[in-house]
Amino acid sequence: MTERVALGIDVGGTNVKVAFVKEDGTVIAQGSIPTDPARGPERFSLEVAEYAKALAQKNDIVWDSVTGAGVGLAAFMDVDKGWVEESVNLHWYNVPIGDLLSNALGKSVRMDNDANVAALGEVWLGAGRDARTALCVTLGTGVGGGIVIDGRIHRGVSTMAGEIGHIQVKNDGELCNCGHHGCLETLSSATALVRHAKEAGLVGQSEELTAKEVFDLAADGNEIAQVAVADMIHWLSLGLSIGANLLNPDVIIIAGGVVGAGDALIEPLRAAFARDALVRVSRSCTIVPATLGSQAGVLGAARLVFQ
Ligand SMILES: [Zn+2]
Repeated sequence: MTERVALGIDVGGTNVKVAFVKEDGTVIAQGSIPTDPARGPERFSLEVAEYAKALAQKNDIVWDSVTGAGVGLAAFMDVDKGWVEESVNLHWYNVPIGDLLSNALGKSVRMDNDANVAALGEVWLGAGRDARTALCVTLGTGVGGGIVIDGRIHRGVSTMAGEIGHIQVKNDGELCNCGHHGCLETLSSATALVRHAKEAGLVGQSEELTAKEVFDLAADGNEIAQVAVADMIHWLSLGLSIGANLLNPDVIIIAGGVVGAGDALIEPLRAAFARDALVRVSRSCTIVPATLGSQAGVLGAARLVFQ
């Protein structure tokens, strides 16, 4: 029997997740290894390949049955050439990572950025199953976005589609990493929520205040936290409504650690979105929390192989 198996590779700043996934979405084996991008992309590729081959062997996966590999990483890239143009996280610039990994693995390699593969993963096996047009927004250090239409990532002409985090929603707002002011990312990322809450005088129980903790404190009646959360949701809804008016999606998936706040995030966000987006857009669109967590990237990366 020749069942197709894909190798998914999700490259993070501190570790690389690897999974062998069947075409029906079943994960046969998975694991992770630490990333040390400072050692360079050649060494990195060899180490990932060595790890993947060992993982396959340990789980009785015949290497010849692996159809190919899909890779997700935080980078600006040319997906057709398999070229990372710039990855600030990994300190890689103009790296032919597709060829390096392909040579090391002896397999064809497809790649895309981390937000896009996470969106693809959620639509394939998570919160966006059966969605025709899905917008997936990840609230983390920044605000990442991915668009999946009819089961495929919509990349635009230079893989920049879905960069919802850099929609400028606030006039004269804070300076963003991208060089513009008032981007959604400066207002609604998990990092921004924490920063704004701290600036307003919120003190957490531990040294490191997390976005989830800000939500918990808001639920406990802390007024500073409540204002910070309401503000974050206000701007997020504006950004989503701009994206949704453009895409008319049937689902918007919210991902990232903040999703742990559950209804405290989703319910007020739905209410604000119903006010901000066009009525015909908001009523045919559901906002849902992501369900795959940190697995979305590696599953979406594997999915690239079957397309
Ligand atoms: Zn920006």
